Amino acid sequence: MRLRRHDLERAAAEILDLQVYTLWANELPPGHWRRGDTAMCLRCAGDADYRELIGPRWTGRGACVVISLDVLRAEAEAFQAAWPRVGTRERFRCVLLSTFAHELTHVVRDCIVPRRDAPVPPPTDRLRRMHEALADAGVADSLALGGSVPFRGHDAQFLRTTAHIAYRIAESLGHPFHLLFYTEAISLSPSWHYLVALDDEPARLRHVPLTEIDDHDPPEAFRHLWCHDVRRWWRRLDSPTDAQTQAMIRGVTLFPVTL
Ligand SMILES: [Zn+2]
Repeated sequence: MRLRRHDLERAAAEILDLQVYTLWANELPPGHWRRGDTAMCLRCAGDADYRELIGPRWTGRGACVVISLDVLRAEAEAFQAAWPRVGTRERFRCVLLSTFAHELTHVVRDCIVPRRDAPVPPPTDRLRRMHEALADAGVADSLALGGSVPFRGHDAQFLRTTAHIAYRIAESLGHPFHLLFYTEAISLSPSWHYLVALDDEPARLRHVPLTEIDDHDPPEAFRHLWCHDVRRWWRRLDSPTDAQTQAMIRGVTLFPVTL
């Protein structure tokens, strides 16, 4: 099944009941995208900034994500050794849908999305300015934005929401896909450990609004895995800073234990 932008936007509208404009990085004006960056959810008024690029697809205010297809093609290539029996197109599909599920998680958890009929502010070049600021600060990798706490912004609640979104995307498209999440890059266990620990929760809670998933206790195995990972990360630090210790405490108490 060949995926088009329309399929992604339609699935997002169905799952989130939101317009999520999806732009390809190579469509952006020069200087607005940093070579090598994979994807980004534009947290402030990205839809307005790129209103012209969205063109006739515009149906009112919404969220906006940008994805670099060039980077995803390279990632899909890199998986060839790990998945020798999976064809190029299917590998690319998994990488693209996993990335889209990740960015939709940012939309759900971190993004303030304006009402559809909210006024459209004039476009800005804030994305270009942000990339300039990151370059000045010497930040080479967006995952490094977590700073001294590698999983900052991508904690277990984030991962859990991504797994639920991935399940709903697969349902919407009528095709399952293997969710990839680079948890090892942020000092956590491989993502499939988390997916196994979640068990059938995405199917069981498929009618629960995504913003209410946190109100439900996760499976004990999921909570246990996350707490284990956070403690292990902290114990391996030579001399943890106060911020790192606070992050560890916040991490192990992320899911209250209900007895
Ligand atoms: Zn992210």
